[in-house]
Amino acid sequence: MSKLSPLLKQATPVLADHGEGAYLYDTSGGRHLDFTAGIGVTSTGHCHPKVVAAAQEQVGKLVHGQYTTVMHKPLLDLTERLGDVLPSALDSVFFANSGSEAIESALRLSRHATGRPNIVVFQGSFHGRTVAAASLTTSGTRFSAGFSPLMGGVHMSPFPFAYHYGWSEEEATKFALRELDYLFATACAPEDTAAFFIEPVLGEGGYVPANSEFLAGLRERADKYGILIVGDEVQTGFGRTGKFWGHQHFGVEPDILVTAKGLASGFPLSAMAAPAELMAKAWPGSQGGTYGGNAVACAAALATMDVIEEEKLVDNAATMGQRLKDGVKQIAAAPNSGIGDVRGLGLMVGAEFTTADGQPDTAKAKAAHQLAAEKGLLLLTCGAWMNTVRMIPPLVITAEQIDAGLEIWSDVV
Ligand code: PLP
Repeated sequence: MSKLSPLLKQATPVLADHGEGAYLYDTSGGRHLDFTAGIGVTSTGHCHPKVVAAAQEQVGKLVHGQYTTVMHKPLLDLTERLGDVLPSALDSVFFANSGSEAIESALRLSRHATGRPNIVVFQGSFHGRTVAAASLTTSGTRFSAGFSPLMGGVHMSPFPFAYHYGWSEEEATKFALRELDYLFATACAPEDTAAFFIEPVLGEGGYVPANSEFLAGLRERADKYGILIVGDEVQTGFGRTGKFWGHQHFGVEPDILVTAKGLASGFPLSAMAAPAELMAKAWPGSQGGTYGGNAVACAAALATMDVIEEEKLVDNAATMGQRLKDGVKQIAAAPNSGIGDVRGLGLMVGAEFTTADGQPDTAKAKAAHQLAAEKGLLLLTCGAWMNTVRMIPPLVITAEQIDAGLEIWSDVV
């Protein structure tokens, strides 16, 4: 018998055999309603027939065609297709394999382009696990403890997390912008700052949406000091929040946009988009990796975009997301639910567990997550204290499946 074992411990005992739409089936034939979508990846559902067919066809033609040597059609077609959905100023695209890699590309590009060392991130951020991406991550010390020193030049400023502060959205926003100015005056000169990295909705940080006033405040300062806004749409892109991009809720376009997860329905692919003039400032050879822009992943992404359009999945995310959030709120309103706040955008819904005196209740969130899994509903947790249960079902989810999930969640709570 092999002595090897996988590095990671899974959060549930499910041994997945196959998936179909919103369901995963285990090797014993058990069925699980998947409100995790592989952490927001399989947005078109597990094994959507169109995505499977496109990938199978591409595998038979060309699996790998490294773009520094030869260009291939799936990559060119995907580049053109992304032009239909990206902000018009972002007319150049670069492909990598994971969110972290694309974030690192945006980091290098923003430093190269501005010649400045500093990066400002917002408290509760998650930008990945590679050393540079982990340096930009402030949603939990679990992502950095034990392997310091991390990359230098990163400064953190508050995010307008109203529930955490116990303030109104307006008060939290004013505070966050004032603190940003204070940071500029005390520790991080804006003239030395290359970029703000911002998630339209904090993901790992607890499913906390930003707001228009906060982003307008960032834009004002970015324009004033020549700082770039890097929009991390790794989790919020591709319809997840009920608009194609998360930033569209807030009316402020990023200067560099990074996306991954829902882009290729589970095939490893990420993208960074920027104005061509800016992208040209990346030094030759400074970006890219062997597998970036893989032909099969690009073909799957093209099929994903077809499915999103044909099945109106962005609208579905908005409608089903509202149904889910309303249901979760109703359940949270029951006496002794233990849930202090329900928030999110589209099909990113979080329920934060707190004790009677308002402290994070990690134990209850963990217990709820595990009990839900036992009852056939797969969920995730997030937040600094891991006390927020998050629901991120595929965008193909139906009203009946949302209601089935809510019924289990109601039992659990
Ligand atoms: N940025 C955000 C907002 C994410 O949610 C994630 C992953 O969860 C990443 C970056 C990192 O992506 P990856 O895990 O593909 O490296």
